[in-house]
Amino acid sequence: MAAFDIKTLPNSLNGQVALVTGASRGIGRAIAIKLAELGANVVVNYNGSAAAAAEVVAAIKALGNGAQAVAIQADVSSVADADRLVAETVKAFGRLDVLVNNAGVFRGGLTDQLPLDDYHKLVGINIHGVYYTTRAAIPAIADGGAIINISSGASKIAIPGFPNAAYMATKGFVDSFTRGVAAELSPRKIRVNTVSPGATMSDMMAATSEQVMEQIVQMSFFKRLGTPEDIAEAVAFLAVPRSGAWFTGQNLHSSGGVTFAL
Ligand code: NAP
Repeated sequence: MAAFDIKTLPNSLNGQVALVTGASRGIGRAIAIKLAELGANVVVNYNGSAAAAAEVVAAIKALGNGAQAVAIQADVSSVADADRLVAETVKAFGRLDVLVNNAGVFRGGLTDQLPLDDYHKLVGINIHGVYYTTRAAIPAIADGGAIINISSGASKIAIPGFPNAAYMATKGFVDSFTRGVAAELSPRKIRVNTVSPGATMSDMMAATSEQVMEQIVQMSFFKRLGTPEDIAEAVAFLAVPRSGAWFTGQNLHSSGGVTFAL
């Protein structure tokens, strides 16, 4: 067997192309900028927030390190849009090395009271969106590339007084899907991992009551919420060939110890 020397692997994303879904706001925005800082050309996917996505593209170009970015509108819960998103990525930059399935929505409520429309949104974006985009990306992604799926500590943790069983279950799908695809793509040396954020400051947290927010803060070893930049660092670690080399099928909890605390 050929000797393996980790030092020969790239320690940056120079020359690589990353597609980040849901990159117009919050965690996805921070991931897109971080991957560009590491040298990647980045596709900033968005669904409704065109102006915010354009601002992320401008922020990447302003880094001044040569990283390029384009914004591409696509609703990942549509098979046709997911297919087009990957095709337009390859058309824009000629290749695809890193896919980050970040787009997601939160809808909370008691199971017998959650409107079915909300349930269908959760399943459509958090499950079908991840599946459709991955399915479209598999033939396109370069051997040796990386897929990083954004799950949530919520796939493991139920908090009394904060009912969100359907959301939790969609993230359980992400955890299992990651392991399955990691096995499938191992012959091509494509690393497939999950990053599970703890509660993170973004628009998604806006609907959370102060009481639950405080409960969540107290669960963290460091007594604070995560920032989108905290999560982006974990994604970058897995995306970069050298730091991520020996990780596949793993679930990296970026949560200030919340999951470990249970
Ligand atoms: P956010 O601030 O609400 O941003 C959500 C992003 O997803 C936006 O860019 C939005 O784009 C995009 N999006 C929504 N529906 C989409 C669709 N159908 N197609 C394409 N893009 C779509 O949320 P966030 O907090 O950054 O969450 C990002 C990910 O982290 C999600 O998967 C979430 O479940 C996960 N997460 C978040 C937390 C937290 O506490 N914030 C904790 C654990 C896990 P547009 O605005 O353009 O529509």
